[in-house]
Amino acid sequence: MHQATATDSGWQSPAERVEVRPVEQASAPYDIPQVLLDRIRATRALPTISAVAMKVVEVCGDENSGLGDIARVIQLDPALAAKMLRYANSPYLAPRTPVTTIMRAVTTLGLVSVQTLSVSFMLVNEMTRARKGAMKHRRYWTRSLLSAVAGRTIAGALGARGAEEAFVAALLQDVGILILERSLGESYATLHNAAGGDHQKLIELEREALGVDHSVISAWLADEWKLPKVFALAALGSHGFLPREHAEDPLLWNLCQSVSLSGHVADLWLSKDASGAGGRVRGAALKHIGLGPERVERIVKQTAGQFAEAARTIEVSDVSPAVVAEVVAKAQELLVGLALRTAEERGQLEENARRDALTGLFNRGHLQRALPRLFEDSTVHGLPLTLAMVDIDNFKAINDQHGHPAGDQVIQLVAECIAQLAREDDVMGRFGGEEFLLLFPATTAEGARTACNRLCERIESVRIKLASGVSVSVTVSIGIATNGALGQSAQGLLEGADQALYRAKRAGKNRVEGG
Ligand code: GH3
Ligand code: MG
Ligand code: MG
Repeated sequence: MHQATATDSGWQSPAERVEVRPVEQASAPYDIPQVLLDRIRATRALPTISAVAMKVVEVCGDENSGLGDIARVIQLDPALAAKMLRYANSPYLAPRTPVTTIMRAVTTLGLVSVQTLSVSFMLVNEMTRARKGAMKHRRYWTRSLLSAVAGRTIAGALGARGAEEAFVAALLQDVGILILERSLGESYATLHNAAGGDHQKLIELEREALGVDHSVISAWLADEWKLPKVFALAALGSHGFLPREHAEDPLLWNLCQSVSLSGHVADLWLSKDASGAGGRVRGAALKHIGLGPERVERIVKQTAGQFAEAARTIEVSDVSPAVVAEVVAKAQELLVGLALRTAEERGQLEENARRDALTGLFNRGHLQRALPRLFEDSTVHGLPLTLAMVDIDNFKAINDQHGHPAGDQVIQLVAECIAQLAREDDVMGRFGGEEFLLLFPATTAEGARTACNRLCERIESVRIKLASGVSVSVTVSIGIATNGALGQSAQGLLEGADQALYRAKRAGKNRVEGG
């Protein structure tokens, strides 16, 4: 196994690396152009992890060592120990009694978490130190931190263990950006700034200019650092959700999906187009992870709630207290926006569920719900309710002679004429194939008959130009029923209209009967 080292001296050639370290399950080996790899090597762009962090990784990977061994290594570095304690005591973990010893912190957090947290603390330290260049780091770190907290929250919502791993994996998903900046300097900073904070655009620009995007560099680095393989996969997956076939390892799948979604959540804060970002988050959450809008709202709320604490623990100088305050303050605004959009979308969904897809008129389900309601209203208020059942004449012949799509076109035309006829309270719907049901509240049979006669005339007069170029015209027959003195039920009205329609057909079609 290739020995990842903290210095540049131990580098192997890319070709060797490909042979020696294929990454399981990922789209390995990493397809990083050699020129770029050489550049990364030559510019010493890779961060050096402290000896202590390396030791933590090593001890965690050694099956003979226990939690005590790890605690002892961490204690060698006071700064690392302090961060670990702070993390273990954060309100997010809410320990019942304060965690005051590293041993207890390690026990609370678990082996894998401690390993990954150690590395990430060190990495963040190193990556925020001694930098130059024109890239906007405040934005980078705000996004990384937001992603970390969001990733942890999402993993928690998915019921996955390993929320800590999601935190670290999301925090590091874009570290490739910093590596690229270090290796390529100004030219990368220019490219990064050209993307103007649009993550998708950045990916495209990188692929175009470098032949690879930063997620691959992040994944490759995670391997160099001997992080568990899940980190490389999460980084690779950060720009697209893993397909379902990767779900055979639910923990891995959840983790990768959490990281993928975390970037979208972070973009809620950072995107110029907040409502577009909101739509993307909700769409992705539902499509790829099965989380509905309410869950997304909760994730955003929790991310905002835990952000300040995470920023304090990770201590990134670019994310000043003012920036933290800004992020927290903006959360309320985002939540309101999300909730509004959700209500709007809900309304749209409900509306869609009431409509017939071909004609846009109400569908049969809605007609069946509306009829008893209108019937009840009419009884209560002593106003008439009149029904009309409309059926296209000789419709089979249209289908037979001109094809089914032509039949559909005729149905749509008839529906349009019906819609034009409707007054505000009328409920016009498609009852079945080429049958329509019209509900006229507060309308006498006489009034409805006038309207229906007008409908017959209108439809008869229209020439319908079919897609084939041929023009046809059709007629309709209409049966009317009203809840007059007979005091029928809603069902009785429906049957009455149907019988009147039958009479209209028998009497020669293209006419109105009943009432
Ligand atoms: P009538 O004058 O007695 O009403 O004769 P008709 O030819 O209209 O007879 P019928 O009501 O029995 O035939 C309706 C036909 O409509 C049968 C079915 O294949 C067709 N149909 C039902 N739904 C649709 C649809 O959504 N699109 C198309 N193109 N055809 C449909
Ligand atoms: Mg019919
Ligand atoms: Mg018919």
